[in-house]
Amino acid sequence: MSTQSLTLAPAPRSEAAEQVRAEVRDFLAAELAAGTFTTHVDTWLSGVDPAFSRKLGERGWLGMTWPREYGGAQRTAMERYAVTEELLAAGAPVAAHWIADRQSGPNLLRYGTEAQRREILPRIAAGECFFVIGMSEPDSGSDLASIRTRDVRDADGNWVVTGAKVWTSNAHLSHYAITLVRTAPADPAHRHAGMSQLLVDLSLPGITVNPIRILDGGHHFNEVVFDDVVVPGDMLLGEEGAGWHQVTAELAFERSGPERFLSTYPLLAAFARRVADTGDPAGVAALGRLSARLLALRQLSLRIAAALDRGELPDIPAALVKDVGTTFEADLIDEVRRVVDVPASLDSPDPLGRALAEAQLHAPGYTLRGGTNEILRGIVARGLGLR
Ligand SMILES: Cc1cc2nc3c(=O)[nH]c(=O)nc-3n(C[C@H](O)[C@H](O)[C@H](O)COP(=O)(O)OP(=O)(O)OC[C@H]3O[C@@H](n4cnc5c(N)ncnc54)[C@H](O)[C@@H]3O)c2cc1C
Repeated sequence: MSTQSLTLAPAPRSEAAEQVRAEVRDFLAAELAAGTFTTHVDTWLSGVDPAFSRKLGERGWLGMTWPREYGGAQRTAMERYAVTEELLAAGAPVAAHWIADRQSGPNLLRYGTEAQRREILPRIAAGECFFVIGMSEPDSGSDLASIRTRDVRDADGNWVVTGAKVWTSNAHLSHYAITLVRTAPADPAHRHAGMSQLLVDLSLPGITVNPIRILDGGHHFNEVVFDDVVVPGDMLLGEEGAGWHQVTAELAFERSGPERFLSTYPLLAAFARRVADTGDPAGVAALGRLSARLLALRQLSLRIAAALDRGELPDIPAALVKDVGTTFEADLIDEVRRVVDVPASLDSPDPLGRALAEAQLHAPGYTLRGGTNEILRGIVARGLGLR
C-alpha cells in the first residue's frame, strides 16, 4: 500500500462548530418562515440568490477559514463544515457563491499574488463576487490534459485567450472564471506541461456566454467562448506552466465536502417524513439502510475536514467520498421510487413528489461533475498502489 492510506483519525467534536451550527439553524428557520427561500434539491448548482449569499457574507459564513486580512473569519474547517452541512440540508439557495467560497478563494489564497488576494478575497467573503470553474472543453473532460484553449502573450505583456470552455456552471452569473489554458504548445511526451491558470474577468470584450439547458429546462450550464480576449498580464494565477499541478490540487479540495452526498438530502427528509406518517415497514427498512450509509459517509467526510485543519491534503479519501457519496445520491432516488408510489413532478403539491422530480432530473450530473466516478476510482486505486 502507498504511504497515503484511507485511514484517517476521527474528527474531534468541536464545540465551536456545534455553536455555529445552532446559529445557522436559527437563521435558516427564520428565513424559511419569512419566505425568502423554499427548499429545493441540488441547490449548490441551481439555487442562485445573490441577496442570500450576501446575508451569509454579513454573518461571516463565507471565506470562514481565510485570514482576517483577506476578509475571512479565521475559523476552522470543522466550523465551515457545520455551516455548509446545514445550508445543504435545508436546500438553501447557495449556488451563487458556492464555487468562489469552496474552491476559487482557497486557490487564490494558495497561488494568488498579494494584489489578487487583496482585491478579490474580501469581495468573495462578502458574498459579492462569484466564480466559475473554466476547465472542461468540448473535447476535453476527463482527459483534461488535452485542452486546446490557447493563451499567448502580446507585445504589451497581456494574455490573449482563444478557445471555448463548456459545462461552466453559472458562468452567466459569475464575475471571474479561473480558466485553464495552454500557454505552450502541446507536447505528447509531456502531456501535463505547458498549461497555466488565468483569472479571467468575464465582462471583458470578446467573451460570449451561451446557455446550455438541463433536463428540467433550467439554465445553469454554459459554453463560454473566448475570441482574442485580452487579459491583463498580472492576471496569471500562480506560475506559468504549473497549471496542471494547480488544477489537481484544486480538484482535491472540492471532492470531499458534504455537497457530494447531500445534494439530494431534501428528498431524504421528505421521504423520512412520509415514512413517519405511514409507518410502512418497507419504508422504515429503506430509511434504515439509507441512514446507515449516510452516517458512514459523513464520518469519512468529517475526518477529511479535520485532516484539512491539521494541514494535510487527503486527496485519496476525498476521491472516495465523492465516488461513494454521489452513488448514494443516485441510489436514494431508486430506493424512494421502489418504496413509495408517488408521482414525480416539478409542479407537484406534494413535497416528496417535487423533491423526487428535482432529484431525478439533476441525477445525470451527480457522478460526472468534479470528475467522473470511473476517474475517481482510478485515483483511489493509484493512491493505494493498485495500478
Ligand atoms: C452538473 C455538472 C456541472 C459541471 N460544472 C463544470 C464547471 O463548472 N466547469 C467545468 O470546467 N466543468 C464542469 N463540468 C464538466 C465535468 O467536469 C465533466 O463532465 C467531467 O469531467 C467528464 O468529462 P466529459 O463530460 O467530457 O466526459 P468524458 O471524459 O468524455 O467521459 C465519458 C465517459 O467515459 C468515462 N471515461 C473517460 N475516461 C476514462 C478513463 N480514463 N477510464 C475509465 N473511464 C473513462 C467517464 O467516466 C464517462 O463515463 C460539469 C459537469 C456536470 C455534469
